[in-house]
Amino acid sequence: MAMDRLPSARWRLERIPALAWATGALAALALLFAFATDGAAAVLMVLAIAAAYWTIKEARRFTIAPTNDEIELVGLGELTPLLEALPDPALLVDAQSRIVGSNAAARRQMQFEARGQFLTSVLRHPDVLEAVQAAVHEGGTRAVEYESSTQGARHTRCYVAPVTWGADRAAMLVFHDQTARISTERMRADFLANASHELRTPLASLTLLIETIAGPARDNAEERDRFLGMMQVQADRMRRLIADLLSLSRIELDEHVPPSDRADLVAVAREVVDALNPVAAERGVRIELVAPADGLGVVGERFQLAQVVQNLIDNAIKYTPKEGVVRVEIARGGDREETAQAAGRRWDEAGRAALLTPAAVANRSYAYVRVEDCGPGVDRHFLPRLGERFFRVERELGNERGGTGLGLAIVKHIVNRHRGGLLVESQQGKGSAFAAYVQLAEED
Ligand code: ADP
Repeated sequence: MAMDRLPSARWRLERIPALAWATGALAALALLFAFATDGAAAVLMVLAIAAAYWTIKEARRFTIAPTNDEIELVGLGELTPLLEALPDPALLVDAQSRIVGSNAAARRQMQFEARGQFLTSVLRHPDVLEAVQAAVHEGGTRAVEYESSTQGARHTRCYVAPVTWGADRAAMLVFHDQTARISTERMRADFLANASHELRTPLASLTLLIETIAGPARDNAEERDRFLGMMQVQADRMRRLIADLLSLSRIELDEHVPPSDRADLVAVAREVVDALNPVAAERGVRIELVAPADGLGVVGERFQLAQVVQNLIDNAIKYTPKEGVVRVEIARGGDREETAQAAGRRWDEAGRAALLTPAAVANRSYAYVRVEDCGPGVDRHFLPRLGERFFRVERELGNERGGTGLGLAIVKHIVNRHRGGLLVESQQGKGSAFAAYVQLAEED
């Protein structure tokens, strides 16, 4: 777009000196003639010359003149290449609050068309406009923070610095996006608050139990044993919380690096099922594994995939009533949509949520593990929150069962590292089914 305007800009600039001389000479002659003949015409002539001078001066401010391959900039515009070198959006604004320079990042983000536009037409925040005026007239660099609601809430810090170029005074504005930093800080603060709260609860119980054993229950052996048993439960809870938190932080540490190893999803699931069979048997639950006999190769880290399958089966056992069956199915799913259909849409009246969806990648096929239980199911309006750290349906309903609310968060982060997906469907009275899918390894 800018290139279309360049030839006419060159035409104008090359001719400005000649035009100016010719106009000046003509004006001087006309002025002499006018004074000699009519005073009013002379005054009009002086005004016309002043207007012409102002126009030429203004034209210089916004003109670009390409000479050969180089671009020669005039006035404040000469500072534009400096702006282009900045990765953040940057603007150069003159004393009349007009944009005289900008970089590509600013043009993209603020969607403005041409130089010469007023700053207020692209940005209306009063603190920024005030800082620009102050920088131009009083000097000194300022930083203004503001929140805007375009494309979701965004936090920006705008640095405004005075610029003097010859006789021109201007302000340079650099916009630094703070949204990601602020949301990370908030998440970290929330996480710390939640983690300390979760640890504080069993700790408070432990303290109370110790006081009781040391005080009123000191001489009652039966009571003491009962309280010691309760202390054991609270200590176990703290141990599980700490183990899950450590596990989560280890996973997050390399979540941005997808695994490149190969693993057999069927072998992984079989090992987990073998390890959990005794736990299930103790609760009167049977685990049924349905999987291809010759295995299924996926791209993934064996240990982490085992953790996914284990957490899903663990939950399923926990919620399945006596005599119930936990069904674990492993199969190929096809592409992303086919997999979501095959692994996550089986029950007609179930509520559903995609807890994690991978980016669409052409020609990528997935394998899934679906863990089905015949437990009480989850109310559909809680489904999208499963996988949030510390979220427990029971706590929302006021009947805690002692879970940490980190098991599904761990599953979600591992699957995310594997660039896979996580689905849930649940029907109250029928059961719940969680399905995790990861990339199928290419076959030779
Ligand atoms: P935990 O089981 O330690 O509480 P999870 O992150 O594994 O933590 O699960 C979070 C919550 O999701 C559980 O507290 C429970 O409310 C719900 N949930 C998970 N799996 C099931 C399931 N199979 N059936 C019913 N509710 C489930």
